[in-house]
Amino acid sequence: MSLLQLKNYINGKWVGSANPETIPNINPAKIDETLCVSPQSTREEARAAVAAAKEAFPKWKETPSPVRAKILFQAWQIMQSRAAELAETLTKEEGKAIGDSRGEVQRALNILEFTAGEGRRLRGSTIPSELPRTFIYTVRQPIGVVSLITPWNFPVAIPIWKIAPALVSGNTVVFKPAELTPFCAFKITEIFEQAGLPAGVLNLILGKGSVVGEEIVNHPDVHAISFTGSNDVGCAIYEKGSKRGIRVQCEMGGKNPVVVLEDADLELAVEGAVQGGFGSTGQRCTAASRVVLQESIADRFVEMLQKRMDSIVIGNGLESGVFMGPAVDEKQMNTVLRYIELGKNEGARLLKGGNRLRGSGFDRGYFIEPTLFDHVTSEMKIAQEEIFGPVVSVLRAKTFEECVEIANSVPFGLSASLYSQDIAKCMRFVEVAEVGKVHLNSPTIGGEAQAPFGGTKATGIGPREMGTEVFEFYTEVKTVYVDYTGQKRKTSMY
Ligand code: NAD
Repeated sequence: MSLLQLKNYINGKWVGSANPETIPNINPAKIDETLCVSPQSTREEARAAVAAAKEAFPKWKETPSPVRAKILFQAWQIMQSRAAELAETLTKEEGKAIGDSRGEVQRALNILEFTAGEGRRLRGSTIPSELPRTFIYTVRQPIGVVSLITPWNFPVAIPIWKIAPALVSGNTVVFKPAELTPFCAFKITEIFEQAGLPAGVLNLILGKGSVVGEEIVNHPDVHAISFTGSNDVGCAIYEKGSKRGIRVQCEMGGKNPVVVLEDADLELAVEGAVQGGFGSTGQRCTAASRVVLQESIADRFVEMLQKRMDSIVIGNGLESGVFMGPAVDEKQMNTVLRYIELGKNEGARLLKGGNRLRGSGFDRGYFIEPTLFDHVTSEMKIAQEEIFGPVVSVLRAKTFEECVEIANSVPFGLSASLYSQDIAKCMRFVEVAEVGKVHLNSPTIGGEAQAPFGGTKATGIGPREMGTEVFEFYTEVKTVYVDYTGQKRKTSMY
C-alpha cells in the first residue's frame, strides 16, 4: 500500500508541492511505522497561500460574524463526529497516551464551541462623551491576513485556539504547523473545508520553519502573527514582526513549579506532581518540571513521590492503561538524556530513572524513564532551562517566602501550583507568583476554553490566548464619535 502524501490547502484546493523532497511522519512509539509523508513546500507556495488569504479577506470581512460563527459550529459538529479518529492520529503522530489525546481533542471542541458562540457577541463598548448629544462607541474589526505558527506538542488544541478566534473575527489565515505533526493539521483543515469555509479563508502550508515559516513571517501582506513554540524561534519572529510594525503574539517555554507547603494534603500534592511532571511525557509548556518543598515535609514527600512513580505505566499510548508515551522524536529524546547527564554533573542527586528504556518493545520507540532529581538548587541549569521531557527536579526551602523566591527564580512565567490548606498563604501566592496562571491545590497543567491562557516574563509576548481576551489580538478596535447636534462646535470642551 502506498503511503499517504499530505498536501497543502491553498485557495480551497489540496495541492502538492513542486519540491519532490518530503518529510516522513514517524510514529515515535513504533519507529518502523511511517504514518504518511508531508511536503517540504517552497517559498513560492507559501506566497501563494498568503495571496489566497489576501484575496479572500474582503468578502470574509464583510460576512457578518454570526454567519462566520455558523461555519465554526459546523466544524465543531464534524470534529465531534471525528473525535476518536483525531485522538488516535494524535497519539500515533505525537506519542501521548490516548486518554491525553482524547482530552486534547475535547479541549479543542470546547474552544471551537466557545469561540463560535462569541460570533454572536464580539462586543464593542459604549462610552459617555464630555459633549452633549454626542455618542461614542467602539466596534471590533478584523486585521487582515494572519499567520498562525504552531508547535508539535498540542497539535490539535493549539491550532484550534488560534484558527477559531482568527476566523470568527473576520481574518483570513495561513496556518503553518510543526514539521513533526502535519497529519493532525491536515485533518483539522479538512474539517474546516467540510464545514463549508469559503476558498482562501483558511490556507494550510506544510514544510520547514526556516523556509515557509520565515516566508509567512516576512511577507508584507501578513498583518499579524500568532506563534507558539520555543523561545529562540519566537523571539526572532517577534523581532522581525515588530520591525515591520505588525502585531505579534508569542507563547513560548515554561519551567513551572509545584510548591508544597508543610500543611498540604501530601497525597493530593504527590498526584499533582505526577500529573504535571510526567503526564504527556513532560512535553507540555505547563509541565511541572520543578517541585519546591518546604523542608519539614521534603523527605516524606520525596519518598511518597518515588513510590507513586513506580506505578507509572510507560508504553505505546494506544495501549490501554499506558500513562506515559515516548519522546516525540530522537532529537527530543537525546536532548532530555543530555539534560539528565548535565543534572548529574551539576551535583543534583538522581533518585530515579535517568535512562532510555530498552527491551520488551521499548527499542521500537523513543522511551525514557520518568526521572527524579533531588537536592537541586536554583542556579543549576536543570532548574532553569526547559527540558521538555519526563524529568522532575526537587528543590527544598525552609519557609513559604523562600519557596516563593525559588518558584519565581526562573526566566519563564507560565503556570504555578501551590498545595496548602492555609487560605492566607494561598491568596498571597496568587499575588506574588510571577506567572500567567495559578493553580491552588491542583496541577500546573490544563486550561478551560472560556478562560485566558498565557504567560508572563520570557514565556509570553502580547495578549492572552483563549477566553474573550483572545479578541484583543485578533481584532482592531475602531472608535466612533457620533455628533447629533447638527451644529458647528468645537470638538472638545477644552
Ligand atoms: P519550535 O519553536 O521549534 O517550532 C514551533 C513552530 O515554529 C513550528 O511550526 C516550526 O516549524 C516553526 N518555525 C521554526 N523556525 C521558524 C522560523 N525561522 N520562522 C518561522 N517559523 C519557524 O517549537 P516546538 O519544538 O515545535 O515546540 C516546543 C516549544 O513550544 C516548547 O518550548 C514549549 O514550551 C512551547 N509551547 C508553548 C506553549 C504556550 O502556550 N506557552 C504551548 C505549547 C508549546
